[in-house]
Amino acid sequence: IAAFRDGTMSKKIFGKLVPLLVQKQQELGRKLRIMEVCGTHTLSFSKTGVRDLLSPYVELISGPGCPVCVTNQSDIDQMIAYAEKEDIIVTTFGDMMKVPGSRLNLYQERANGADVRVVHSPSEAVELAKKYSNKKIVFLGVGFETTAPSVAVSIKRASVERVNNYFVYSAHKLTPPALCALLEDSTHQLDGFLLPGHVSVIIGRKGWTVLEEKNVPAVIGGFEPVDLLTSIYLIANEMNEKKRLIRNNYPRFVREEGNVKAQNLLKEVFSVCSVKWRGFGTLPYSGMEMHANYQQFDAKKQFAIEPLKSRVIKGCRCGEIVKGKEKPFACKLFAKVCTPENPLGPCMVSSEGTCFTYYQYEQEK
Ligand code: SF4
Repeated sequence: IAAFRDGTMSKKIFGKLVPLLVQKQQELGRKLRIMEVCGTHTLSFSKTGVRDLLSPYVELISGPGCPVCVTNQSDIDQMIAYAEKEDIIVTTFGDMMKVPGSRLNLYQERANGADVRVVHSPSEAVELAKKYSNKKIVFLGVGFETTAPSVAVSIKRASVERVNNYFVYSAHKLTPPALCALLEDSTHQLDGFLLPGHVSVIIGRKGWTVLEEKNVPAVIGGFEPVDLLTSIYLIANEMNEKKRLIRNNYPRFVREEGNVKAQNLLKEVFSVCSVKWRGFGTLPYSGMEMHANYQQFDAKKQFAIEPLKSRVIKGCRCGEIVKGKEKPFACKLFAKVCTPENPLGPCMVSSEGTCFTYYQYEQEK
């Protein structure tokens, strides 16, 4: 990994990159607008200073790559509603605990007496189900193609071991449909995508062929400075091509076919469905619901709990931020009322959230 963090190498690449970026900038009459889809890329660009370095030539736009941030408010409220049932123990990853529902978040629900537990893996939730056989254990499944396989494993395990009190609330999402939706938005000017390395490990380069059909420059990239700079170089270079191909600039982890075993697992346990995304509304074929063969583990099917009426958090611009339409500085609440200690929207909660990253590393210029 040291080679990908090497300062001398980064400087060399930057030296080669600048003339290309200047050329593209002159052709376009403006800075290049490149979206980094993944929340970890947003963090890497800010943390390493590469965003600042590129800023005279490239406007980097954060995309819908933070799973907690794109989860619709009604899903958050539905999940929180489970916590209010006496016979249910809600389990989830730490990030979800602080996400504001329309009324309370899960930490506050717990303070009010609800049984909510942080787990480090869905398997831990299956263990809890075995331990508390008189309770119903609901795991809140939020994430993209990357995290969904571990949830699928937990469901298969519960099925094999006949753990009948384990349930999953699936709010899992597929990444490519969201990028297609952004491309269809004529008010959005995007010159290219830096595609998420982690998702690509699962879906492979092949998983992005839908973008190839749209002829948009897009490169799968890693997270170190050399990865970031070479990826931007490849995107800018691809803009010169008539037929744009999806480039894999993360070959140390990403294969053409991806992780076929994980893909098969997802196909077995989940079915593709249309779901609501924060900021986007309903996107066709962009979600993962439980497959008919595993519906006994589907919390949505097993407990029809009426959540409180969802309300939009007043002043929060997360919906525009996940679409790359606004920067966190555009939100009047940013860093004043909304901080990582007191987050008012999901983009300030998650360590992959754009507001969280900007709060930690960026300054309005
Ligand atoms: Fe939402 Fe807070 Fe970000 Fe504003 S600063 S958009 S309230 S998360």
